[in-house]
Amino acid sequence: MLNSFDYEVYYALKKEIEKQRETINLIPSENIVSKNVLKVVGSVFTNKYAEGYPGKRYYGGCKYVDMVEKIAIERACKLFNAEHANVQPHSGSQANMAVYFSVLKPGDKILAMDISSGGHLTHGVKVNFSGMFYKTSFYSVDRDTELIDYEKVREIAIKEKPKIIVCGSSSYSRTIDFEKFSEIAKEVNAYLLCDIAHIAGLIVANLHPTPVKFSEFVTSTTHKTLRGPRGGLILCKEEFKERIDSIVIPGIQGGPLVHVIAGKAVAFKEAMTEKFKNYQKQVVKNCKKLCQELKERRYRIVSDGTDTHLFVVDLRNKGLTGLEAQDILEKVGIITNKNLIPFDSLSPNITSGIRIGTPCITSRGMKEKEMVKIADFIDETLKNRDNEKILKEIRRKVRRFADEYPIYPE
Ligand code: PLP
Repeated sequence: MLNSFDYEVYYALKKEIEKQRETINLIPSENIVSKNVLKVVGSVFTNKYAEGYPGKRYYGGCKYVDMVEKIAIERACKLFNAEHANVQPHSGSQANMAVYFSVLKPGDKILAMDISSGGHLTHGVKVNFSGMFYKTSFYSVDRDTELIDYEKVREIAIKEKPKIIVCGSSSYSRTIDFEKFSEIAKEVNAYLLCDIAHIAGLIVANLHPTPVKFSEFVTSTTHKTLRGPRGGLILCKEEFKERIDSIVIPGIQGGPLVHVIAGKAVAFKEAMTEKFKNYQKQVVKNCKKLCQELKERRYRIVSDGTDTHLFVVDLRNKGLTGLEAQDILEKVGIITNKNLIPFDSLSPNITSGIRIGTPCITSRGMKEKEMVKIADFIDETLKNRDNEKILKEIRRKVRRFADEYPIYPE
């Protein structure tokens, strides 16, 4: 038994379970997997080495991992209507790395969204390999509307002549016009990489347009709205299949995480169901409702709203930084993360905003009426940030509230 053999790890796990049950998790990049996904990720598939691909492994004994990887690949292709899928990237970052390595040389140019507008570290940020190896130019959102200005993107693309254009985001809350990005990429003869790490689940449920037919490469994580295990995914056109596969292994990874691939396969099957589509619809409904409720409590929302599972709150009119708000909310059991707002004057470690999302709470069964309650909790907490007694009382209420919703959904 874990608790008698290794009490330290047992204790951390026990406390994590308790925390997940007793808090309201509004981090948009997190979710809660089904019992079936949890089961295969914790299975004996973790014991197996399987460098290579189904039918072409460096190891013996791969009959059943071949089976499960083939299932995952077939399901990913069907789910996204893609020509080829590589289900081995250990993370979204490695999926992006594989795409860059497959078509770029060090020093080549990337055009991507800047991080304060919603771009990701792997979209050419200096401290990341993508910013170290490649020359990046960035597009931002428009200062007034806080929406992507496609004409501006086009102007920058014509001027910079990137080899690859990256779209997709970690905090942009609006629908992305992948077709427009594709037109721009074609005009400047660049590859297009659409990173759908955040919105993959919405795409599967037809709540966001798909980029698959418009781009050479699509990358994703499998653990955000897609509600699978932590990991990455690459979709590409048939002509890039060999390049992508040989960059993932032997190019940048060793043995695949077979237990995680099995979890991805189960998650893809779940994502094909009507139940999953309804779940995604509820994620978006909840997000719009929570956003509206906060607006009514005089919170400024970046771009004035959301079309997706997330939004960013600009806290400057509340006299708070993102870091302060994140810490105060955590005291009462509301988990958010600080986030840059477009053209933020504060550093990424402080920020002027927080990012809020509804995938997790929707997985626990919450609906619109719970969003009203959560908006109240947030507002009451931030208003009473200096009053320890009130904060303690809110903590008690949040604990009681959250505890009623399961953390092990079917
Ligand atoms: N791309 C986007 C848009 C993301 O938001 C993220 C993660 O937050 C990633 C890539 C990287 O995923 P991972 O954390 O699995 O490396």
